[in-house]
Amino acid sequence: MNERNPITEYAPVQKGKLDPGAVATAFESANYYFDVAAQRLELPDDMQTLLKTPFREVRVEVPVRMDDGTIETFLGWRIQHNRARGPMKGGLRYHPDVDVEVIRALAALMTWKTALIDAPFGGAKGGIACNPKLMSSGEIERMTRVFIEQIDCVIGPYEDIPAPDVNTNPQIMAWIMDAYSRKHGHTPGVVTGKPLEVGGILGREFATGRGVGFAILEATKGLGLELHKCSVVLQGFGNVGSSTARFLSDHGCRIIALSDLSGGVYNPKGLDIEEAFKYSRDHHRLRGWPEAEQITNEELFEIECDILVPAALESVINRHNCGKIKTKIIAEAANNPTTPEADRCLHENGVAIIPDILANSGGVCVSYFEWVHNIQRFAWTETQALQELQKRMKEAYHATSQRSQREGVSQREAAFMIAIERVAAATNLRGVGDP
Ligand code: NAD
Repeated sequence: MNERNPITEYAPVQKGKLDPGAVATAFESANYYFDVAAQRLELPDDMQTLLKTPFREVRVEVPVRMDDGTIETFLGWRIQHNRARGPMKGGLRYHPDVDVEVIRALAALMTWKTALIDAPFGGAKGGIACNPKLMSSGEIERMTRVFIEQIDCVIGPYEDIPAPDVNTNPQIMAWIMDAYSRKHGHTPGVVTGKPLEVGGILGREFATGRGVGFAILEATKGLGLELHKCSVVLQGFGNVGSSTARFLSDHGCRIIALSDLSGGVYNPKGLDIEEAFKYSRDHHRLRGWPEAEQITNEELFEIECDILVPAALESVINRHNCGKIKTKIIAEAANNPTTPEADRCLHENGVAIIPDILANSGGVCVSYFEWVHNIQRFAWTETQALQELQKRMKEAYHATSQRSQREGVSQREAAFMIAIERVAAATNLRGVGDP
């Protein structure tokens, strides 16, 4: 007999002892962390089911005329997880591994992230299963415009607001703004992470990395470490990884290893981040940079350091490598980088984990400022935005840390508890549509 409720098949309430080893998919992983916190809060089962069930899932075909004249049909998703606290918010990912499970998990994490940073948003995520590395700029533009045409009935500045994620950037956000505005009138607030010229905000491009840096700063203080004496290993050298590396390098850290999809580079004496940027920009990869020893992404996780920053994709810290990790702090710049099994193992080994919904919330925080600018037609300076970002990151970090100490739970559990309480409170106050 199928024990799953067909209506809520994505979100069965797990009762009793939770088994991190039984988690198989990204969405199960996000829900595992939800279940642990919801049980601690003694949240009623019906509310657990409601909060875990995605509000709306849209899958569309995205036919694109390729440069050689053929038509390629991609699949795209926009998954809207929860809107109790405001319009839904979340990035758009272009990657071959995009599927419904990954997007569903990332959408759920956005609900908890926006609640934790106390931005007036719900959670959503989108993506297209494609390999943009093999596509021309024109093909990516046409794909983006077709996708927005297909989902434009479910997005909008008061409904759902996309933003950049893996392999999407300010130019793509500008195309989204343009595609939507052609149909609905000038609407910069439909998307964030735009270039400055079309309603973007100074500093958004570096906001996620800077937010990761601010969270690390608070964590090192809490552990009695001096940030400028810390060694750092970082996976992923895109938007988030590179801006985190620059922040930490500017604060005196020794970045000893870096990697991207091509592989990694290592120098125990420290890497020159500006030179790494230059090499990566010129060669579109880090591997081969002559100033450092070449390593693989697997070897990267075995390097002893004070701070480890996964800033690429999900599940990279898992049962296979968690026992080999030798660090004091893991700052989850990527979304969902640690499987529940590895999370437990690292916790037992005394590693302090700054969970993703806290560590990388700087991006959505500055996206919130950008959205406010767009709907009010008034802009802050970069300094104002940066100060407000630091203030909010600090508040979220300390609220999480204090809750963790008070309840004797991990920072992840504390972060989920705070977020779930806020979303549950909004849901209860709004009601569920009963007459
Ligand atoms: P990006 O596309 O700019 O960069 C991704 C980086 O990861 C690249 O350097 C790429 O080479 C590397 N990478 C990809 N696959 C890899 C692999 N298998 N092994 C090692 N490295 C690999 O993406 P981004 O925007 O920097 O996003 C990185 C992570 O941060 C994602 O998990 C994303 O969801 C999360 N995130 C991004 C934002 C944002 O504002 N962009 C906000 C919050 C969270």
